[in-house]
Amino acid sequence: MFDVAIIGYGPAGATLANLLGQAGLSTLVLEKEAVIYPLPRAIHFDGEVMRIFQSVGLRQAVETISRAGLKGMQFVNAKGDTLLTRGGTAHQGPHGCASNYYFHQPQLEQVLRDGVSHFGNVDVRLQHEVTDITPQADHVNLSVTDARTGQATEVQARYVVGCDGARSLVRKVIGSPMKDLGLHQPWLVFDVLLKSHAPALPDHTVQYCDPARPMTWCNVTENRRRWEIMLMPGDDPAVLVQPETLWTLVSRWMKPEHADIERAVIYTFHSVIAEGWRKDRLLLAGDSAHQTPPFLGQGMCAALRDVANLAWKLEAVLRGRASEALLDTYESERSPHVHAFIELAVKLGDIIQATDPDKARERDAHFKAGQPEIFEFPSPCLGAGVLHGNKAPVGQPFPQPVLADGRLLDEHLGNHFAVIGRAHVLSGVSEETQQVWRETDVLIMPTQDPALLSWLDEHGFAAIMLRPDRYIMGTARTSEDLDAVTACLCATALQPH
Ligand SMILES: Cc1cc2nc3c(=O)[nH]c(=O)nc-3n(C[C@H](O)[C@H](O)[C@H](O)COP(=O)(O)OP(=O)(O)OC[C@H]3O[C@@H](n4cnc5c(N)ncnc54)[C@H](O)[C@@H]3O)c2cc1C
Repeated sequence: MFDVAIIGYGPAGATLANLLGQAGLSTLVLEKEAVIYPLPRAIHFDGEVMRIFQSVGLRQAVETISRAGLKGMQFVNAKGDTLLTRGGTAHQGPHGCASNYYFHQPQLEQVLRDGVSHFGNVDVRLQHEVTDITPQADHVNLSVTDARTGQATEVQARYVVGCDGARSLVRKVIGSPMKDLGLHQPWLVFDVLLKSHAPALPDHTVQYCDPARPMTWCNVTENRRRWEIMLMPGDDPAVLVQPETLWTLVSRWMKPEHADIERAVIYTFHSVIAEGWRKDRLLLAGDSAHQTPPFLGQGMCAALRDVANLAWKLEAVLRGRASEALLDTYESERSPHVHAFIELAVKLGDIIQATDPDKARERDAHFKAGQPEIFEFPSPCLGAGVLHGNKAPVGQPFPQPVLADGRLLDEHLGNHFAVIGRAHVLSGVSEETQQVWRETDVLIMPTQDPALLSWLDEHGFAAIMLRPDRYIMGTARTSEDLDAVTACLCATALQPH
């Protein structure tokens, strides 16, 4: 009997395996394929995601295979005018790292799997396909086929997380319908490896909003570059992926002698969210729960935010520190958050994918040439759940400053709830609150650190409570406010023993 079985060893499953491995839970990973999916899909992740890697000790390893993307993204029309930009960012953004990174997905997945290999409590079984799922009152039975021998076996786990991608079996068993957010469009994804004499091309991502053929250009890592090319009416997919067609499509920028083709595959981008991420002991995470067009580079990021949200809740429930109801806050918190990102990606898709020349002219007129609009990465709040209040910054991630001792904040925090603030406010809380903090292992961090005090002063607070996933659970101006936040912690999440 495992505590948790994870079905699927893509980025969501592998990150969850690291988080549960670190939490000391007995974990089984079942993956039907023998090797990491070799074709690059995701190429971008954000600063919050780097912080998740940091939380499982993989930041340095991920940094060695990724590139900080400091130059932002531009949306350019057919005449070459910039309509919209996402600004560049510093090396040290709010999460204590760059705000955007580029990477090659198979390399990242290898780093995640290497991380998992350090945990003796995580059993990884490759070439094991889950064929049937039978929920029981206090556990779940999984029927598994070993592709090497064809032998079928049964395994049991207290909880099962379906990190099994867009065609999820777990989602089918739960019976969750998909809410459609409207965008379904085939795009050709064309990856190349530049040769040394290739012409200079932009370092930043460019969305070519040309109604004749919308395209995206991305600098990935090292000599790897990507075009994403929208399919137009009348395109024959089989012809489109032929080398001759591919080179013709990008002939404005480069010629066959400038690069080797790595692959060219047609994907249909979707915008959907499952309604029902949990049924009893079955849960969904990643592409099984939602899919977004990649215009913001957020599909995998959302998957990793899912598992960072879920891991500490599963740990609390399995260790008897919280009731099962805590697991319901997983969807109620995450679904509106991922909804906001998908909606923005669909809006950007409407800008990029305008193929009607009149609509494209209207769009260009809206965006006044020479005065590009700037859009910020959204920072939506979590939906209702383990939160005291529903107004930002509650429900947003707390920044990760470098503290006066030179260490990053998260290195002080570990994976606990934490109260950070002015000493007199922390020491002024009630006896009851102090007892709850002791019994639920809340980390108490009275601080005089300039970076932390400056954030508190700027927002008009004296203290905050952070959750293990670094989201702000509640804010306080007084000790009594902290008593209220702590009462909310007991009501929504942890039960003092
Ligand atoms: C062209 C493209 C560009 C993208 N760009 C970005 C980007 O820049 N940034 C970003 O954040 N995201 C991006 N994405 C999205 C990102 O790739 C996905 O969101 C991410 O891979 C999802 O991870 P996952 O672990 O949920 O699912 P997957 O990676 O699909 O993994 C699911 C795993 O489950 C296994 N599995 C399925 N069923 C079973 C079963 N029954 N038994 C055992 N194993 C099973 C599969 O073999 C697979 O290994 C992009 C996607 C595409 C297609």
